[in-house]
Amino acid sequence: MAQIIDGKAVSASVKEEVAAETAKLRDEHGLKVGLAVVIVGSDPASRVYVNNKKKACEAVGFQSYEYALDESTTQEQLLDLVEVLNRDSRVNGILVQLPLPKHIDEKAVINAISPAKDVDAFHPENVGRIMIGEYSFLPCTPAGVMRLIESTGVDITGKQCVVIGRSNIVGKPQAMLLLQKNGTVTICHSKTKNLKEICLGADILVVAIGRAKFVTGDMIKEGAVVIDVGMDRDENGKLCGDVDFESAEKRAGYITPVPGGVGPMTIAMLMKNTLTAAKQQAGIQ
Ligand code: NAP
Repeated sequence: MAQIIDGKAVSASVKEEVAAETAKLRDEHGLKVGLAVVIVGSDPASRVYVNNKKKACEAVGFQSYEYALDESTTQEQLLDLVEVLNRDSRVNGILVQLPLPKHIDEKAVINAISPAKDVDAFHPENVGRIMIGEYSFLPCTPAGVMRLIESTGVDITGKQCVVIGRSNIVGKPQAMLLLQKNGTVTICHSKTKNLKEICLGADILVVAIGRAKFVTGDMIKEGAVVIDVGMDRDENGKLCGDVDFESAEKRAGYITPVPGGVGPMTIAMLMKNTLTAAKQQAGIQ
């Protein structure tokens, strides 16, 4: 039976580290850390994410600034707001909650955020920096996955690492981070042949595809580290991951549950990125 990787506990320790450093910045440098969160429209899931981010800001001692804009906001108006936030010295990090309404070009908005305040690490400059290993911010979900793997004590060096999914926000950066830690990385996607065979060779398997319980126990190597990024709904509408937990935990050495695995890490890493942004903007190491 696999050991469960407790994402809530690991994320709590990241947030504690951030809170302690935030208090130190305030006491020693008189600095306040600020995160601006922009939401356009009334998508219920986006609202939940934004509320959770605001709560996390309060918990670590950040100031959060919420900008809740009407669904009818034009792209120009949103770009104007981003420009104002880029110049606002109280704001160290800017997060525009995605998805945006269809009439707004997400890329144009992401590209308008100052790379120094791009705490989601979606701006092309920050994406490029990850490729060459000279980054300030790591995208929150893949960075959270790395912390979870680290928490198992398993050394990535020389391990066969398989990432299923090649999205710009999870799969691709995830593969790059595993490569930087000296893993031997294979990236799989919907056109991959012999997926089961490839998965069976994985010492570390990260699954980010958005298909409920897709990876089953018979696809997992005995003793592997299995990280489930998926956030899906099963046939009864219950939250579940991309991995069939019940069969997978019988084979894996370590496994993340859904909920309580990768999910809590994403927000914790956002807090960490915002703190890093504040320190860099103040010229503090
Ligand atoms: P995405 O942009 O939809 O990408 C899905 C990827 O999975 C694509 O690369 C796709 O391949 C691949 N894929 C789909 N079906 C496949 C199959 N049958 N076999 C192999 N590969 C397959 O999704 P995403 O944004 O990366 O998100 C993935 C999952 O993670 C979702 O459940 C999402 O909700 C979750 N997520 C969770 C968090 C968190 O904080 N926990 C954060 C982000 C995302 P192609 O490229 O060939 O189409």
